[in-house]
Amino acid sequence: MPQATVMERTPFIKPNPASTQAAAVSDGSRIGFENVSVTYGALTVLHSFTLTVNPGEIVALIGPSGSGKTTALRAVAGFVRPSSGRILIGDRDVTNLAPYDRKIGMVVQNYALFPHMRVDENVAFGLRAHGASEDLIRSRVPECLSMVGMSAYAKRYPRELSGGQQQRVAIARALAPRPQVLLLDEPLSALDAQIRRSMLDELAKLHRDLPNLTVLYVTHDQSEALTLANHIGIMRDGRLQAFGDSKALFRHPPNRFAAEFLGRANLLPVSGLKPADEGMAQVRFGGIALSARNHHGLADGSDCLICIRPHDFRFSRSAAEPNSVSGTVLSVQWQGDVHNITLNIGGEALRMSCPPMTNPPGLGETVSVHFNPAEVTLVPEDGARG
Ligand code: ADP
Ligand code: MG
Repeated sequence: MPQATVMERTPFIKPNPASTQAAAVSDGSRIGFENVSVTYGALTVLHSFTLTVNPGEIVALIGPSGSGKTTALRAVAGFVRPSSGRILIGDRDVTNLAPYDRKIGMVVQNYALFPHMRVDENVAFGLRAHGASEDLIRSRVPECLSMVGMSAYAKRYPRELSGGQQQRVAIARALAPRPQVLLLDEPLSALDAQIRRSMLDELAKLHRDLPNLTVLYVTHDQSEALTLANHIGIMRDGRLQAFGDSKALFRHPPNRFAAEFLGRANLLPVSGLKPADEGMAQVRFGGIALSARNHHGLADGSDCLICIRPHDFRFSRSAAEPNSVSGTVLSVQWQGDVHNITLNIGGEALRMSCPPMTNPPGLGETVSVHFNPAEVTLVPEDGARG
């Protein structure tokens, strides 16, 4: 990722500061993308993108590298201008507003603090440029540093801080002018795994403390998205592939790409869909009848996939148990708090995760596993492998 430009370090600051107070949080913090397309030269990287982030909500935008996540965020921030479509914040059409008129806070992956300024000066900078009084700055800076647990570091320079600490300061700086909207672009991806987890907890707590703040959180990490977000949008090639409530999207992904991007998924090819009661359906896997939820209302007779998460499999006492499939053990891997087992079932390599076992099955052993049909869903076969 390239270094942030000076413009991006101070994105929401008027070059000639007007003597206004820092913006107050209001209800009008909904973020709306309406058919937003962005092109770079001849290349369209965002295709008629439509998405709403409701006030006070955290929406995560996830997708592989190059799928257009940062471009979408930068369109909200005002760094890229859509070739068509509108960006709304609350009821305001901000499509043609300069970044500093949008009342947005933004944090990017690589901290982007001013290296020559101490922590408190970094946090004060945006306030000062917004024309905040010295009194306000004196009270607001410690408040923001305390919010991110950095009170003890006010007089340090960024180079004297760890990556996680720098990112906390960047968040404090973004929040200081009380933005209605916070944009986060992979804020944790430069940090190591353990710090990332504790920062995730802190971000969740921060949002509990600031329930009016509307957050658009870009990440390529599905666990960050599932941990933090109320809703998740999954992007691919500049298009929204799926959008929905985080749990529902995980449980009932609408397509193969969404299923595989939101975590490990076994996608078992099945045929001959027959509707059953209460949104369920029967399908066939080879000669075996299986049941699953037909959440997406796939047509009778369809060939499709059953999306079974590794934790959804349980060992069966016998192959006759309903919804059981049998096969041989391909691999057994112990990972401390989990056993991962790969099974060859009818030529498909299926992955199962279970709590650690004292006597795991041996390689080549024949076993039967089943799943709860209400917890797995049928997914259309869209051809494209993630
Ligand atoms: P993501 O954040 O999901 O990794 P980006 O939004 O950064 O994706 O990029 C989407 C696509 O747009 C990529 O193909 C990328 O190469 C291209 N792109 C991004 N910024 C520019 C730019 N300033 N000029 C030309 N192409 C760009
Ligand atoms: Mg990006």
